[in-house]
Amino acid sequence: MSQASLGPGGARRLLKRLRDLMAGGGTGQERLNQTVRIIAADMVAEVCSIYLMRPGEVLELFATQGLKQEAVHKTRLAVGEGLIGDIAAHARPLALADAQSNPNFAYKPETGEEIFHSLMGVPILRGGRVLGVLAVQNRSFREYDEEEIEALQTIAMVLAELAASDSLFGPPEAALETVALLPERLEGLKLNEGLAMGRVVMHQPRVTIRQMVAEDPARERGRLEAAVERMHSAIDALLARADLGHAGEHREILETYRMFAEDRGWLGRIGEAINAGLTAEAAVQRVQDDTRARMQQVSDPYLRERLSDLEDLGNRLLRHLTGDRTAAQAGALPDDVVLVARSMGPAELLDYDRRRLRAIVLEEGSPTAHVAIVARALGIPMVGRVKDIQARAAPDERIIVDGENAIVVLRPSEEVREAFQAAIRARAARQAKYVALRDLPAVSRDGVQAELMINAGLLIDLDHLAPTGAVGIGLYRTEIPFMVRSAFPDVASQVDFYREIYTRAGDAPVVFRTLDVGGDKRLPYLEMADDENPAMGWRAIRIALDRPMMLRQQVRALLLASAGRPLDVMFPMIADVAEFAAARALVDRELDRLAARGLARPAAVRVGTMLEVPSLVWQLPALLERADFVSVGSNDLMQFLFACDRGSTRLAGRYDVLSPAALCFLAGIADAAAARGVPLTLCGEMAGRPLEALALLALGFRRLSMAPNSVGPVKDMLRSADIGAVAAYLRSLLHLPDRSLRGRLAAFARDRGIAL
Ligand code: PEP
Ligand code: MG
Repeated sequence: MSQASLGPGGARRLLKRLRDLMAGGGTGQERLNQTVRIIAADMVAEVCSIYLMRPGEVLELFATQGLKQEAVHKTRLAVGEGLIGDIAAHARPLALADAQSNPNFAYKPETGEEIFHSLMGVPILRGGRVLGVLAVQNRSFREYDEEEIEALQTIAMVLAELAASDSLFGPPEAALETVALLPERLEGLKLNEGLAMGRVVMHQPRVTIRQMVAEDPARERGRLEAAVERMHSAIDALLARADLGHAGEHREILETYRMFAEDRGWLGRIGEAINAGLTAEAAVQRVQDDTRARMQQVSDPYLRERLSDLEDLGNRLLRHLTGDRTAAQAGALPDDVVLVARSMGPAELLDYDRRRLRAIVLEEGSPTAHVAIVARALGIPMVGRVKDIQARAAPDERIIVDGENAIVVLRPSEEVREAFQAAIRARAARQAKYVALRDLPAVSRDGVQAELMINAGLLIDLDHLAPTGAVGIGLYRTEIPFMVRSAFPDVASQVDFYREIYTRAGDAPVVFRTLDVGGDKRLPYLEMADDENPAMGWRAIRIALDRPMMLRQQVRALLLASAGRPLDVMFPMIADVAEFAAARALVDRELDRLAARGLARPAAVRVGTMLEVPSLVWQLPALLERADFVSVGSNDLMQFLFACDRGSTRLAGRYDVLSPAALCFLAGIADAAAARGVPLTLCGEMAGRPLEALALLALGFRRLSMAPNSVGPVKDMLRSADIGAVAAYLRSLLHLPDRSLRGRLAAFARDRGIAL
């Protein structure tokens, strides 16, 4: 390369000149014009241009040195169009010695650019959003090197910060907008139902960098080192906090920490950016921007996860450098907080004032994530897996969260806001109606009685028993207290916990399910298997039978806690009768132990099983002879029946629980249980949806256990239905070759005035 390249010293000088320029007077346009002039001169380029994003994903030429001035504010390229559009679309730099021969080149005659052969462009990025493109061009077939690309990226970042801080675009150019200012409707995954409207609060707000350009790189390197050290000790302290709990989070932090120790490249890149003239915090952010841009390119989930770890780490490091805090730590929140985060632990959520919290939107998250469980317990609407929500939303923007339909609307228009207000009012009116149903019996018009129960997993869930009028806890998922500890809880602390559940439940029955860990529910103190399909791997009863002390201690604690009261206990993921028999034998051993020590027995012990693995259905006669009750876990049962991941957004809606296949399967179970008089419950998600619940009642299910919010709607449906008529109709459809019977059943129900 023959042209003068920008060494670290040169880059620093250039950044300093840019900063002085920005700090000076003049309109935004004048300063932009000077900016391109300085960059062109410094980079020995004949052309330097700045394109900025306009609403509608259009890049507009805002300033140029070297191209024709008449093209300014005229030349426009759609994102993806031409080389400039390509840089914006992929948020990545491009350097071409012969730009015009590139298939993406789009010729814009008004610019007069045909005489410039080489081009180097970089995205102007801020917070993962592309604000524009900065490009230089040369007449010769110039090969730009890595260092020059880096230098241009650093300049683009300084421009982005200046653009955002408004010092670049004073009035009247303040009209500049980024694409993201239009209303946007984003889809995600339902983590909790409910409708809410509020203002965006970034759980980890973007750190404000007050100074971008540094005079003394050595001092900045020192600041970086000190911050890295502070971060190390903070992470160590976090890991040492036994009470902090939350397995997944711990593990993630630990892994990030380890990876960080190995990732010298990351620190190295930050060091280079400091050498180029940035302050330590600007350098971290510069590398963050790269990471974010890389994340957009990567589809491999493992790599994405690693990159997002790096991003988290960068955020931590930034906070150590600037002293900024998270939104919860900072306080002073609006009255209608909609939290936006990449991911979040339950403890972090509980840091917020519940009265102000309207909804939560995450970039990640799954229905079984702890934070989702806590949000459900608190009744906070929540949508997960909303792509790039952190980058798309800005603090304090209005946002609507529709948990039921898993939709988020950013910057909603007046009309949309009104429509949602109406929906929120209608929902509140419905809730009021369900409250009125609380003390009425759960009985259909033709006298079919059902037991409606709730699922629980947190102590807080028990508070829903009275207000919903549910008759008991049909499924108590015991794993959560195990997951929020850093060591296996001993028998005594388990006893305390189960006693507390009994106390809070009052006279209502509670069905305890033994530990269902494994899969995505990890215990920090138990080495888990790295199964290719964790849902079908070493989990639940499979772990319990291989590590019997875990199950025995849990059963021991349950027996002690239930002294004098009936104990209902069931096992998750039983696949054959032998497994059930083995698990039941462990309970018997504990009962013997109790007797040998002369300790009080529960008033009754009923041992049942979840039915969530299809193989068990072909052993129903043998099972029903041995089990005191059966509870169908339709979430897992359906995922295994259809070989369809229950968490997959792509597959959601592909197979229907109201298909002939699924309903025949369930009918077989109901018939067998009824014939032998064994109590049968269904405790998966389908029990809580009125149409699905109607089908279940029609097939003969009489006990349904569901999320607390569903009790009202299901009772309302039941009280308006003639179950005998629905049963006759539904049974007559089971032989049909249809994909789903949903439409027919819904029409039948509507015609008969059943409340759905
Ligand atoms: C089920 O699988 O339907 C069930 C109730 O259990 P979980 O959702 O806890 O797996
Ligand atoms: Mg299950």
